[in-house]
Amino acid sequence: MKYLIIGGVAGGATTAARLRRLDENSEIIIFERGEYISYANCGLPYYIGGIITERDKLFVQTPESFGTRFNLTVRTLNEVISVNKSEKNITVKDIRTGNTYTESYDKLILSPGAEPFRPQLPGINMEGIFTLRNVPDTDKIKLYINEKRPLHAVVIGAGFIGLEMAENLHHRGINVTIIEMAEQVMTPLDYSMAALVHQHLKTKNIEFYLNTAVSSFAKENDRLIVKLNSTRIIETDMVILSIGVRPDSRLAKDAGLQIGDTGGIIVNEFLQTSDKDIFAVGDAIEFPNPVTGTRMITYLAGPANKQGRIAADNIVKSNKKQYKGSINTAIAKVFDVTVASTGVSGKLLGKLNISHIDSIIHSSSHAGYYPGALPMSIKISFSPDDGRLLGAQIVGFDGVDKRIDLFAECIRKGGTVHDLAEIEHAYAPPYSSAKDPVNIAGMVAENILDGTAKMIWWRDVFHDTNKELFLLDIRTRDEFQLGTIEGAVNIPLDELRLHINELPQDKKIVAFCGVGLRAHVACRILTQTGFADVWNLAGGLKTYETATQKQSNEDIFANDYIGNDDHIYQGSKEKTITSFIEKAKIKDLDACGLQCPGPILKLKQSIDTIAVGEAIRIKASDAGFYKDVKAWANVTGNELIELTQNGAEITAIVLKSEPIAKQGFQKGGNNATLICFSDNLDKALATFVIANGAVASGKKVTIFFTFWGLNVIKRQKKLPVKKDFFGKMFGVMMPSSSRKLGLSKMNFAGAGGPMMRMVMKNKHVDSLENMIQTALNNGVEFIACQMSMDVMGVKAEEFIDGVQIGGVASYLERTESANLNLFM
Ligand code: FAD
Repeated sequence: MKYLIIGGVAGGATTAARLRRLDENSEIIIFERGEYISYANCGLPYYIGGIITERDKLFVQTPESFGTRFNLTVRTLNEVISVNKSEKNITVKDIRTGNTYTESYDKLILSPGAEPFRPQLPGINMEGIFTLRNVPDTDKIKLYINEKRPLHAVVIGAGFIGLEMAENLHHRGINVTIIEMAEQVMTPLDYSMAALVHQHLKTKNIEFYLNTAVSSFAKENDRLIVKLNSTRIIETDMVILSIGVRPDSRLAKDAGLQIGDTGGIIVNEFLQTSDKDIFAVGDAIEFPNPVTGTRMITYLAGPANKQGRIAADNIVKSNKKQYKGSINTAIAKVFDVTVASTGVSGKLLGKLNISHIDSIIHSSSHAGYYPGALPMSIKISFSPDDGRLLGAQIVGFDGVDKRIDLFAECIRKGGTVHDLAEIEHAYAPPYSSAKDPVNIAGMVAENILDGTAKMIWWRDVFHDTNKELFLLDIRTRDEFQLGTIEGAVNIPLDELRLHINELPQDKKIVAFCGVGLRAHVACRILTQTGFADVWNLAGGLKTYETATQKQSNEDIFANDYIGNDDHIYQGSKEKTITSFIEKAKIKDLDACGLQCPGPILKLKQSIDTIAVGEAIRIKASDAGFYKDVKAWANVTGNELIELTQNGAEITAIVLKSEPIAKQGFQKGGNNATLICFSDNLDKALATFVIANGAVASGKKVTIFFTFWGLNVIKRQKKLPVKKDFFGKMFGVMMPSSSRKLGLSKMNFAGAGGPMMRMVMKNKHVDSLENMIQTALNNGVEFIACQMSMDVMGVKAEEFIDGVQIGGVASYLERTESANLNLFM
């Protein structure tokens, strides 16, 4: 028997090794167009980042060692250029000599992999723009970094490889900007899970643009200019394109083999192509997904390796082993978090019209009372008919890998959420809890399936513009004070039975707490007391806040300042000033493993036990604690004197101060807050003249845009946004951007605005648009009023980059430290 294998890396090398182990007497030749075989593709980003220090470690085998071990021929730098299936031979080009030759086969195995997508954008072939697929690509990128010492890089595409590259470039001390066309990073995740990754990226000082595409590249003064579709331009030193890959199926297609809709080579369950003597494996094949039944391509090393083994078995033993398909179980390290998914996301199930229910939980990596427990969020999708598990996603810090493998195996075996609830796991406090997060995910799903719990999603609450829902915050009063969902009524869980008669019978009641646990108890009380329409907010306030806050992180390198976004947990930027407190006066508190608001409550209880002048050093792992502890200190008058973040662990030192009432003075400061209510050109100009002047005099300035003022900060180039009837009507009637504003007086049927602009130009006064940009560049904070946006149907996507969305509380908090407040 003579076996020829095209492609000598994951799938190809595995097939070759297994073939030899099963058939000692055959002739085996591997053709690889590159210089190397059997190398660790998956390690390439980490070698670039310097985590893997020795290049040699990337090579599992060399052509020589592999050839000797398995008694086969490895022809590197030999590219197969055609396959003649009727003659059963291939034509090969020796890249070193340029000569071509043919080689006959009894069985042929294709494992040509996938190639990175490189869109034909102007300037894409310039020096400094790279894709990453193999060792030569890696060498080029590494050499470029070593020689040119780039300070900044743009990574285009925020998939698994894009994010790994972002992390590794960052590790090399390079500032990284990610450009992503979708509304989220990592498309296998659902939005609410990706939102957790967005917030983590912010803490790592990664700039990223969502819903944004690159339109062209240029070069100016030795730097690359990346032009975005939003008129924005980013200057950079290098670009990594990681937009995606597509199957390298050209050879198969030219040979007349059957190719599927996704562009992959079609194979049967024995991994045989449409020609019985040609098998195919790896990134180049498409195969029915076991969950959806639709043909998909899996771009992962594990399936490629396993397929190689199965194909070899079927070649030698005549089709004895069936390949069952891959459910795309994947995992990636994104800075300190681990992100994993298996099966099919809720988003994709929806697109494929597969009926499903989603549920989300926030748990801990191990028992909360054992030190070092870290947060873990799990989302699962399952069938409403029989509870069959269809997909799972996890974002967490520790123990994500073992949980995702449990979910994957459950999906592969056709298991249900009942199986999840019962999965037996090894437990001791350092590793898990008596009920593992996987069990909890199953139990919550069981409650949903049998009607014990009804879940409502953050989107339904966020888009409840007609205020049809009755929002019931059942957390404690202290928690409520720290922030809630606009319009929510607070009845703490333990008082719910006392106030039950005050709740409306005719409204849909949505109960919520931090993560959904206490709200479940509240829902059970209400349901059993006769309330028919009671819902639990899935994932509680944690999911709601994470998903509704600003997701992208633009402009952070402009002033070497971490961002315009007050939701950012700005870890390492805080100063360390503990030296003036005596060590003995600092009491340590471990709140790791507690979910929001647990850490704050624990802090409050502890601070009540110490004297003024003493301090608490609290460690917490809930990401929201970074923001909450600042707000809590502001509200209570205690002094936050140190705040740091190391991985998932946040440490705050809070000095106990006199309560605010006793301090005997009003807080205040040198800052300025302006309310921009009007969309008259003259009033908008006045707003920005004052704002820019105030910044110049050293003030920190916040402008709160409300009602008509929202029109001043609309972007000129419109992005498509979905609006209801009133939103569309307002949209038609209101100015579409700052360029369309009229004057408050003497507007001369619309001619006033252009006249004013002309006069300003003649007198060398900056245009309104320049003033707006100057304000942004100088760190003026733009807050768009959420309530006005809801009322007027204005969407966040309509605003220029850098605008935050906030409520009146955000504005009022800024006024606390301002001595200039103006209403324009
Ligand atoms: P490959 O391993 O890509 O091998 C194909 C080989 O075929 C190539 O070397 C190519 O030169 C050769 N070839 C193609 N056409 C011809 C021809 N005509 N003649 C001769 N030779 C030819 N997967 C994971 O599961 N986890 C990860 O963490 C992970 N990280 C990754 C990181 C990077 C940077 C990359 C690029 C991939 C990563 N992957 C990861 C994906 C994984 O590497 C692939 O899924 C896997 O290698 C696919 O195996 P394959 O055999 O189909 O293709």
